[in-house]
Formats: sequence, C-alpha cells, structure tokens
Amino acid sequence: MRTKFKAWTEPYINEHPEVCLTKEQFVSLECPINLEIGSGKGNFLMNMAKMFPDQLFVGIERNVTCAGITCKKLVDNEMTNAKLMWVDAGLLLPEVKDDVIDRVFLNFSDPWPKKRHAKRRLTAIQFLNSYYRVLKKGGRIIIKTDQKDLYDFTLENLPETKFNIIYQSENYQELDPFDTMTEYEESFRKEGLPIYRLILEK
Ligand code: SAH
Repeated sequence: MRTKFKAWTEPYINEHPEVCLTKEQFVSLECPINLEIGSGKGNFLMNMAKMFPDQLFVGIERNVTCAGITCKKLVDNEMTNAKLMWVDAGLLLPEVKDDVIDRVFLNFSDPWPKKRHAKRRLTAIQFLNSYYRVLKKGGRIIIKTDQKDLYDFTLENLPETKFNIIYQSENYQELDPFDTMTEYEESFRKEGLPIYRLILEK
C-alpha cells in the first residue's frame, strides 16, 4: 500500500508545532509515553488517544505524506494527548534517554523480506536493544503483524536480548482492551488473514 506523495503535507507539519513535535520537544517530555513507531496514517494513534484520554500517545513516522495526514487528523480532532514526529526511528532512538518510555507499539511494520535488508526491520537486534534501553523497567513492546516471517525473525532475535515474552499469538482475533485497529489491520482482517501478536517486557 503505497501512499501517493502529497505536497501539502510538509508545510502543514511545519505549521503545526503544537502537534508535530521536534526531537528536542520529544526528549524533554516528562510524562508517561506510549510510542508508536511507523504510525502510518494515524488511526491507531488517534483512536488510542481517544480511548485513553489520560495517557500520551506519540507516533513516529518517516514518510512525510503519512506524517502530514496524521498531523491533520490530530489537529482536526483537537487532540491534546496525541502527538506526532516526522522522523526516522533509527535517528530518533539514540537521542532518547534511558528508562523513559512506557510502551512501544510496532503495528504492521515493513517486512523488508530480502535478507540483505534485515537490519532495516524494526525488530532487528539493534532496534530491539534500543527499545530495551529506552523502556522503563516493566515497559513493553507490543507488536502486531500479518507477516509470519517478520514474527519468526523477531522471536529468533529475542534470545539475544533481555526481553521476556509475556504474550504470543499466531492468530490474534478478539482485540485486547488496550488496543485498536490500524489501517492495515482493518483490511487484513476483512480478508480473513491471521494476525500475529507479541508482547515483550523489560
Ligand atoms: N502502522 C500502520 C502503518 C504500517 S506500514 C498500520 O498498521 O496501518 C509501516 C509504516 O512504518 C510506514 O508508514 C512507514 O513509512 C513507517 N516506517 C517504516 N520504517 C520506519 C522508521 N524507521 N521510522 C519511522 N517510520 C517508519
């Protein structure tokens, strides 16, 4: 599902600093943080923020069009507890302090099926170790994917990390109360495809 480039998005992001955070603003946040990496067009981010108004949700999205579409959704819905950053997670994570994030959500991350691209997968060991560092003790990564290969790859990497698996399903059906559907998930569920889900704890 390619998103067609939309030229209005970059100026829109720049005009809405109250929703689209800079790295400096992000690293100085002082409240509990739910971080969604690869937030796409932002449905999960916005709906979780609506369902849990006393928690902060921050989306990280590197695609400018997706980031701009999300930003507009958050502005139009006057969301105060959902923010967005237009940035590549690989550039942001090294700047985040240790033990500050409550949850990391990875929803339908790009599978990067070629072996030579394995390091780009958001559950490659380097990424998992960065999440481990930035998560608080007891903090969690919550992963959903339709890609069995990415799910297996993630499980294979876990022994090289300090995460504990606290939930694992190869056919995640009824939504957990602390969850909502993403754009990709809606279409995969309509097609009847299985959804893989993992929860890892620090
Ligand atoms: N979570 C959404 C979108 C899934 S597609 C959904 O479930 O519908 C994966 C998204 O992750 C894309 O929008 C892509 O631009 C973004 N992405 C991939 N790698 C990223 C990275 N390193 N940093 C930030 N965003 C990334």
